[in-house]
Amino acid sequence: MKQYDHYIDGRTAQPSSGAYFPTDNPYTGEAWAEVARGNSEDVNEAVSAAKRAFSEGAWGRLTASQRGALMRRLADLIVEHAPRLAQIEQRDNGKLVAEVNAQVKYMAEYFHYYAGLADKVESHVIPTDKAGVFAYTRYEPKGVVAIITPWNSPLTLTSWKLAPALAAGCTVVIKPSEFTSCAILEFAELFKLAGFPDGVVNVVTGFGEEVGSPLVNHGAVAHIGFTGGEAAGIRVYEQAARGLKTVTLELGGKSPNIIFDDADLDQAIKGVVSGIFAATGQSCQAGSRLLIQRSVHDAFVARLIEFVRTIKLGDPTQPDTQMGPVATRPQFEKVLKYIEIAKAEGATCAFGGKPRSDLGGGQFVEPTIFTNVDNRMRIAQEEVFGPVLSVIPFENEQDAIRIGNDVLYGLAAAVWTRDLQRALLMSEKLKAGTVWINNYRATSFTSPFGGMKRSGIGRESGIDAIREYLDTKCVWMSA
Ligand code: NAD
Repeated sequence: MKQYDHYIDGRTAQPSSGAYFPTDNPYTGEAWAEVARGNSEDVNEAVSAAKRAFSEGAWGRLTASQRGALMRRLADLIVEHAPRLAQIEQRDNGKLVAEVNAQVKYMAEYFHYYAGLADKVESHVIPTDKAGVFAYTRYEPKGVVAIITPWNSPLTLTSWKLAPALAAGCTVVIKPSEFTSCAILEFAELFKLAGFPDGVVNVVTGFGEEVGSPLVNHGAVAHIGFTGGEAAGIRVYEQAARGLKTVTLELGGKSPNIIFDDADLDQAIKGVVSGIFAATGQSCQAGSRLLIQRSVHDAFVARLIEFVRTIKLGDPTQPDTQMGPVATRPQFEKVLKYIEIAKAEGATCAFGGKPRSDLGGGQFVEPTIFTNVDNRMRIAQEEVFGPVLSVIPFENEQDAIRIGNDVLYGLAAAVWTRDLQRALLMSEKLKAGTVWINNYRATSFTSPFGGMKRSGIGRESGIDAIREYLDTKCVWMSA
C-alpha cells in the first residue's frame, strides 16, 4: 500500500511518532494508502521551516513580480500534472471524473490570476495635516500562515488560500483533511519543481486536535485560513483569539434557492438540481432549501422529481455517472440520520431517502427530496452536507425574504425571476455573501466569496482575498 509522509522544508518527512493512518476510496470503501499521523513535534518542524523561509531565505528577497513568475510556472506544472492530481483526488474523495478534471484545470487559472495580482498591490501616499510631513502605506505579508481545509474539495479549497497567501509573500503550513490528504501532498512536490525555495510551502497531515490545534496555537503562525464545519471553525477562532491572530473562516451554509412563478422554470430546474445534487450535495454553497412560490409549487415539484429520477448514481470514474458516493463513512451516516430526523419531524419524503448498498462499497445515498417542510424544522435549519433537498412554499417577496433569511447561516442564495425590480430587491434583502440571479454556483477567481452570519469571516477569491494575508503599515516621512 502506498505510504504518504509529511512535506516539510522541500522534502518528504516521516512522522516523528512513526504512526500512519489509512485513507479510503469512498467508492470501493477500501483503504488505498497510508498517511503520516502528525503531532505537535511535526507542526513545530514545519512552522520553523516556514518561518526560516519567510525571514531568512530567498523568498523574502524576491520582488512581487518574481513571486508572480514562480506562481505562473507552478500553474503550468499543475496543467502538466493535472491527470495525476485529479486521479488521486478522485480516489480519496469520490468526485466525478468531469468535476475533478474541471477543478484541477481551474486551480491552474487560480494561480495565474494571483500571479498577476502579486505586483499590483499598490500603496498610497496620504496627505497629512502636518507641514513638511507625508505618510504612505506599505502592505506587508503577515508571515507564516496556517491553511486548514476540509475533505469536500481539497485541491480547490487549498488553492483558494494558498494562491493569495503566496502572492502576498507569506509562507504556509497546510493541514489537509484527514480524509483527503494525498492529492495535497502530491501537489506540494510541484513547488520544488517550479523553483520555490524550500520551506515556503509545507504540509503536515493528521487529525484536527493533533495537528490543526497545535498549528493554530503555534506562536509563529500569524494568520489562519480555515474552511470547514462550524464547530471546528469556532474552536479555531477561540484558539486564534488567545494569540490575537487574524482568521479567514469559510464555514457552513443552508442556502435558499428561491423560485418565483415568473421564472424560466426550465432553467430553474437545472439550477435547483445542480445546486443541491452536484458533488453529492457535499458543498458549502449547496442550495439545500428550495423555496417555491405557492402558485407553481406542485407543478414544479412534479417536474423536479421527474428530472431527479434520471440521475445516474455509480462509479465516479465513469463519464456517464452523474452522482457519486458520499465521501466519508461518518458523513454517510450523518446524511442518513438527517433523513430520519426529517421524517420524524413530519416532512414528506417525496423522492429517494434510502442508502444504496448495491453500489460500489455501499456509501451511496439516493438524491432525496423532502416536501411539506417547515422552515423551523431541523432539516431546514441544519447543514446536512449531502444530497437532501428541503422544499418550502412561500407566498410573495416578503415571505421569501423572511424564510430565506431565517437561518443562522448566510453563505449564498439564489433567486429565479424575470422581474428586474424583484431581482434587485431580493439581492439587497437576502443576507448572504453571494446572491445568484437566474443561476446557481457561479464562482470565479476574480470574485469575492465568503459568508455572512455564522457562515464565516473574511473573503476568498478576487482582490479581497490577498488583503487577508497582508498587514497595513503606515510610514511617516519628514524631510
Ligand atoms: P471539519 O470542520 O470537520 O474539518 C475541517 C478541517 O479542520 C479538517 O482538516 C480538520 O482536521 C480540521 N480540524 C478539526 N478540528 C480542528 C481543531 N480543533 N483545530 C484545528 N483544525 C481542526 O469539516 P469537514 O467535515 O472536513 O468539512 C465539511 C464542512 O466544511 C462543512 O460544514 C462545509 O460547509 C464546510 N465547507 C465550507 C466551505 C466554504 O467555503 N464556506 C467550503 C467547503 C466546505
